[in-house]
Amino acid sequence: MNYTGPVYRPPYEASTLLLEVTVGCAHNKCTFCTMYRDVRFSVAKADQIEKDLQEAQSLYPNVKRIFLVNGDAFVLSGKRLKEIAEKIHHYLPSVEVITMYASINNIMHKSDDDLLELAKLGIGDLWVGVETGLGDALDYLNKGASLADAEEQLERLNKAGITFFYGFMFGAAGKGRGIENAKANARLINKVKPLGIVPTTLNANDGTKLAEDVANSVFEMATEGEVLEEQIKTIELIDVATHYMGIHAINSLSFDAALPKDKQGAIDRINYAVQNTNEATLASVPVRHAI
Ligand code: SF4
Repeated sequence: MNYTGPVYRPPYEASTLLLEVTVGCAHNKCTFCTMYRDVRFSVAKADQIEKDLQEAQSLYPNVKRIFLVNGDAFVLSGKRLKEIAEKIHHYLPSVEVITMYASINNIMHKSDDDLLELAKLGIGDLWVGVETGLGDALDYLNKGASLADAEEQLERLNKAGITFFYGFMFGAAGKGRGIENAKANARLINKVKPLGIVPTTLNANDGTKLAEDVANSVFEMATEGEVLEEQIKTIELIDVATHYMGIHAINSLSFDAALPKDKQGAIDRINYAVQNTNEATLASVPVRHAI
């Protein structure tokens, strides 16, 4: 299989076959992200994709799930994604789900018909990095779409029958705004009813605009204690059935929970951490992975 530059995939896709369809991230401008900073975005060539699928056919003929890399593979046009999905089903007929990272912007540039056809071809379980349900915080993170766009585009996915996971970050609104961020995320999650919610935690990675703003006191990071309070409040306020998918290594407390069934257990778990540790200990723990 051919892979160019860094390859990222959600921890939940650790056993999923990865197929390169793009290199880097077409947006590559988020305030906090260094993942593809040094990679020029490009689109994988059709003959390379076909070669990879032939290799996958000989190695993993019964694979059921495939993850298209890289950072925002859903940026490809509806037409191109359809062609790729058809090739996948040709070489790997057992594939049931074709998943990938998708930005709000990527969805915006697909027609309703495109989305319907992509759903029919098994494209779903999209990993959408919404990051925050607060408009001003979202603008600061420079994801390339507004809060109104996020609401509208996630509803379009629902309408087309494309399932998705809602990615967001604790601490995304900075110090003193954790509860506000929790309320805003919970409101949006309750509205758009994602299959799962995928929290990570904001980190000021070296070389980012965020790190520069933190150094210049333009942005103040949430404390670790605030992050845990935000985590509790977010879980408390979610009133739809969804999967809390919190195992990312960047989180201080990493766990999964089926909501609403495991809601109280999840809250008790975070409360236990809050009561049995202190800010100094919490702040000494996370040496967060660069994202
Ligand atoms: S967070 Fe995602 S969309 Fe933003 S620059 Fe990083 S990879 Fe690209």
